[in-house]
Amino acid sequence: MPRPILATIHLAALQHNLERSRLAAPEAKIWAVVKANAYGHGIERVFEGLRSADGFALLDLDEAQRIRALGWRGPVLLLEGVFEPRDLELCSRLELWHTVHCDEQIDMLAACKTQLGHHVFLKMNSGMNRLGFTPERYRSAWARLNALPQVDEISLMTHFSDADGDKGIAAQMACFTQATRDLPGARSLCNSAATLRHADAVAASDWIRPGISLYGSAPDFPTHDATAWTIQPGMTLSSKIIATQAISKGDSVGYGSKFSAPHPMRIGVVACGYADGYPRVAPTGTPVLVAGARTQLVGRVSMDMITVDLTALPDAGVGSEVTLWGRASNGAVLGIDEVAHAAGTLGYELMCALAQRVPVKVQA
Ligand SMILES: *Cc1c(COP(=O)(O)O)cnc(C)c1O
Repeated sequence: MPRPILATIHLAALQHNLERSRLAAPEAKIWAVVKANAYGHGIERVFEGLRSADGFALLDLDEAQRIRALGWRGPVLLLEGVFEPRDLELCSRLELWHTVHCDEQIDMLAACKTQLGHHVFLKMNSGMNRLGFTPERYRSAWARLNALPQVDEISLMTHFSDADGDKGIAAQMACFTQATRDLPGARSLCNSAATLRHADAVAASDWIRPGISLYGSAPDFPTHDATAWTIQPGMTLSSKIIATQAISKGDSVGYGSKFSAPHPMRIGVVACGYADGYPRVAPTGTPVLVAGARTQLVGRVSMDMITVDLTALPDAGVGSEVTLWGRASNGAVLGIDEVAHAAGTLGYELMCALAQRVPVKVQA
């Protein structure tokens, strides 16, 4: 028998979550963001669940090739644009739309002997200070692109730093709106958090760009959880109990003897560790489901195993189902955001970190 750990990708949930974005932005087209191998889920695996999107946005050229190899003929957007001149040939050959965020990318376009006209998304740095032209330089970049025979169409985009938090998007919205006032072209503004939280940004968007919410993680946890946004887990990470130990008060569990039992306990050993992508920093108290019932991690996460408290679950034992995140067989859900929060990180990082050695099943 293989080691019992398994990741399950839920196609119906992905589709449901995509529809949730449509509900939030019924007038807009949707870029399903599938960068980082679809946030760790696997581009090929999620494709059927997300194919009602209007386009796929990603940043590796090999991922763009994989989307085309799946038979997708609709729009594909490179979110960081091209990295070197020969990438432009691939953009022409595969009909990829690409972001232009710096002068060097315009230089590359100007020097390129392209056949088909390029569709570019001109990125504004409206305050995040990562990629894009500042508002002062945006219009001259637009004019330069507009004068190039290699460029067919220019759309306008920016990215919010605080759509999930208290600071919000007002300043960046004002900056973008002002600087693009009389420029033609489609607009793309919203990530998941802006799509769900900021109707003004949605109203100004011809294209939205949800990523994390498609996979069932709330972009603004713990302010809202996935249930509050009516989105469903796109991935379940499950395993089984492979051993149990009865320990006495004062006995310790795992490396470093970091946990010592405050009373007699029954411990379950789970076939899942940091080499599977479970966060090593998850502390005692991190929630886990055993046979669909909530309990908690105790002691240190090791490479191949974690230990959990079975004291209140007398029926659980070797072979019992363990849900690290996602949906248990009895329907109970443990949000990936809760686990991430306990470990001091985000659902994004946990899903992207799913390890190569974990077998993955796709469920309709
Ligand atoms: C990753 C990314 C998104 C998606 O963000 P989520 O927070 O996952 O919804 C949207 N736009 C750009 C430019 C991105 O890089």
